[in-house]
Amino acid sequence: GGFQSMGLSHGIFKGVMKKGYKVPTPIQRKCIPIIMDGKDVVAMARTGSGKTAAFLIPMFEKLRAHSTSGARALILAPTRELALQTMKFTKELGRFTGLRAALILGGDSMEDQFAALHENPDIIIGTPGRLLHVLVEMEQKLMTVEYVVFDEADRLFEMGFADQLQEIIGRLPEARQTLLFSATLPKLLVQFAQAGLNDPTLIRL
Ligand code: AMP
Repeated sequence: GGFQSMGLSHGIFKGVMKKGYKVPTPIQRKCIPIIMDGKDVVAMARTGSGKTAAFLIPMFEKLRAHSTSGARALILAPTRELALQTMKFTKELGRFTGLRAALILGGDSMEDQFAALHENPDIIIGTPGRLLHVLVEMEQKLMTVEYVVFDEADRLFEMGFADQLQEIIGRLPEARQTLLFSATLPKLLVQFAQAGLNDPTLIRL
């Protein structure tokens, strides 16, 4: 089970090779085929496991399949640092896809973020508080989004973003693929349930 047996399209495979990934990590081997099948997933994976590529590679495949206008993927991260890192991987792994990503973070210029969203990115990566603020200001919903990732979900919910996440989820269409990556299964499992997962497959190592 290498990357070459996953049925990746040419540009995506090329991005993975160019990044220097030769064999998939265990979490990638388990997640990528199931996510490419269109399933919702709860994956227990910590930073260092290769979790970012585990959700970016199937995202690229899903987004290349057809093109509509408007943001089609949303990646939510609990911290600025994680969102920046995910943006970097998106640019590197996705360099041959032609897909465009916008980064919406607290502490950065709101004007720049309005401009970035007006340019119709395919992918939005952000932290919940600022993203919600920008969406409210722009009176924008997320009805074109097909693919949603809650990265480090235990920390997202722990950090008190639950209300903001709920408001963001309320702007999404019900028909979407939802993925939740978390180092732990939190005590407040009910909050995970609120993420709107549809019959998720649980993946643990
Ligand atoms: P992550 O868990 O997504 O933060 O990734 C941890 C580190 O592993 C990052 O430096 C990745 O670039 C690297 N990485 C992810 N997948 C692979 C792979 N298949 N082969 C080698 N390195 C990888």
